[in-house]
Amino acid sequence: MFLAGDAAHLLTPAGGYGLQTGIEDVHNLCWKLAFVLRGKMPEEILDTYHEERFPTVQSNMDWSRNNQKGYSAIIGAGKSGDRKKLQELISSQWPVLNSIGQDIGFSYESDLVVPDGTEALAITATHYLPNARPGSRAPHLWLQGPEGVISTIDLFVDAFTLLTDGDGESWSKELLKMHPSLVFRCVSIGEKGDYRDINHDFHALYGIERGGAVLVRPDGHVYWRSLNAAAPTTSEEVGRSSNLLMA
Ligand SMILES: Cc1cc2nc3c(=O)[nH]c(=O)nc-3n(C[C@H](O)[C@H](O)[C@H](O)COP(=O)(O)OP(=O)(O)OC[C@H]3O[C@@H](n4cnc5c(N)ncnc54)[C@H](O)[C@@H]3O)c2cc1C
Repeated sequence: MFLAGDAAHLLTPAGGYGLQTGIEDVHNLCWKLAFVLRGKMPEEILDTYHEERFPTVQSNMDWSRNNQKGYSAIIGAGKSGDRKKLQELISSQWPVLNSIGQDIGFSYESDLVVPDGTEALAITATHYLPNARPGSRAPHLWLQGPEGVISTIDLFVDAFTLLTDGDGESWSKELLKMHPSLVFRCVSIGEKGDYRDINHDFHALYGIERGGAVLVRPDGHVYWRSLNAAAPTTSEEVGRSSNLLMA
């Protein structure tokens, strides 16, 4: 049995995080349930639901609780008639309405994320730095494809997606060596690829050199990344994740 949304965590409405946090829960859980029910992954991957969601939920709860304290202080100042204090407190609420880092800057750590050795980014509630460090939300990037202009976000729907700047063949072979039963589709981004990188942002945004690759989970979070064209050595983490990915 899995709890999601308000049934799992009650947040004060201050800041508007209740529904968002609930939707994030099911976004994390649904693809895992689907993969297990279709026999594509073992049941153990469901344990990562709590592991991945708990820190983000806790962070949103703390953020909302602090927002609530701010609102209570404003109400107190309003009642006391202290206009200067009231103005100061209202101004200090700016981060509450500009919390994009809190919204989408969160990252997951679990057996369904393969670390690439890079340092975690310092996340603040008011700032979001798009990045593809494993565990984080794969950044939005405008792409020109046969069906018109789309976002990379539109690619991550129901399958693992391998993003490369080449034909992807050598990376596909590497991945299958690590995860023999993994089903994924390969998308190449570049002038001769499946999609054209309209603003030439792919490498910078995804933090890879030419020839690197990124494997994104169906929920749009990065599973694995190779920073350059060199094949990664099989690490303990990759081995652990391999077991989870084998059906
Ligand atoms: C004043 C206020 C403002 C808010 N503003 C925001 C905001 O700006 N942004 C934001 O993200 N969130 C906001 N929220 C929070 C948001 O509304 C909730 O977090 C969200 O609705 C939770 O969704 P849920 O599906 O988990 O639960 P619910 O929306 O509570 O849905 C649960 C459903 O289950 C049904 N149910 C209960 N028991 C049973 C049963 N035994 N059998 C069958 N059905 C049952 C209920 O009738 C209900 O329809 C606000 C909340 C409040 C109170």
